[in-house]
Amino acid sequence: MSEAAKQPPTPQTYAAKAYAATSPTSAMGPLTIRRREPEPSDVQIEILYCGVCHSDFHQIRNEWPKDLPTTYPCVPGHEIVGRVTKVGSAVTRFRPGDLAGVGVLVDSCRTCASCRDGLEQYCEVGNTLTYNAEDKHLGGVTYGGYSESIVADEAFVFRIPPGLDPSATGPLLCAGITTYSPLRHWGVEKGQRVGVIGLGGLGHMGLKFAHALGAEVVLFTTSRGKVADGRRLGADEVVVTRDAGALDKHKASLDFLLDTVSADHDINSYLALLKRDKTLALVGLPPQPFAVASFSLLAGRHRLAGSGIGGVRETQEMLDFCAAHGIACDVEVIGIEKIDLAFERMLEGDVKYRFVIDMASLKEGGREAGKR
Ligand SMILES: [Zn+2]
Ligand SMILES: [Zn+2]
Repeated sequence: MSEAAKQPPTPQTYAAKAYAATSPTSAMGPLTIRRREPEPSDVQIEILYCGVCHSDFHQIRNEWPKDLPTTYPCVPGHEIVGRVTKVGSAVTRFRPGDLAGVGVLVDSCRTCASCRDGLEQYCEVGNTLTYNAEDKHLGGVTYGGYSESIVADEAFVFRIPPGLDPSATGPLLCAGITTYSPLRHWGVEKGQRVGVIGLGGLGHMGLKFAHALGAEVVLFTTSRGKVADGRRLGADEVVVTRDAGALDKHKASLDFLLDTVSADHDINSYLALLKRDKTLALVGLPPQPFAVASFSLLAGRHRLAGSGIGGVRETQEMLDFCAAHGIACDVEVIGIEKIDLAFERMLEGDVKYRFVIDMASLKEGGREAGKR
């Protein structure tokens, strides 16, 4: 056998337009990337919309250098909805023309205990994130949904059920499943009193899901300006936590608390709101570790837990739940040339409640990556 014959076959690729950051300080701009031609189990999707997640911004700024250092150029985006344009020979669940979605993961080991349980988000070997992860097909890193197309294994591609608005569906694949999964895991249902802390991209989905699951829902927010919106989105009661004594009135009254806040805050005052043996689950990512007083857990045998996105099976279940209950994300659709401004507004909390990029805008060009 010749040397050349021993090499694995070079995958076929094609050029795709994308939008990228070229350094932690550069503006976003156009970039041409290579995507693999669909392999037997792959689905190629023309991206129609991609949601804008806080993670996208943290990643392009390299703000998690220890856990997820950024490789540049970085094409973010993991709230992807589009139309199938091509399928590999072994694909059974999709056909060209179908609406399809890709979320935070594009692969996992598929054999560890978590993967076997349908919990690919907790893959013990290491799953493959949709962007900035090792690309096992082409080398380099994976590129996300700020692009005109993506190719992914059908095992990590979701059906978009009829009745869902494609422009409001992408964020369900991150903000949606991140809040749906813990509400389901901890058995939120009718007859319970459930608290949601914070009203942003995650919190607004938490309110909708908790309400749709039949719980009596209490929103905790620092902002008086969010009271009306909180009620509109599904809260039966809104507590403005800056008001003196506001939290005291709710001591030991909640069956579950979903904490969606990504800013530093006092966790102890919220743990006190749980009934005995109940759980507070974190889904936000505050920059500093929490100072948890033992007493907050001992008194009432409370549990402090966390939850990250959701598995493939549960994400599809969530999409179907949304279609059945008429749930979508509240979104503001933008052209991709506005992405830097959208990041700024997102950081200021000036979005209701998620930006979504209309990917048709990518075809119209824009500035060169890295130039202001
Ligand atoms: Zn996200
Ligand atoms: Zn695994």
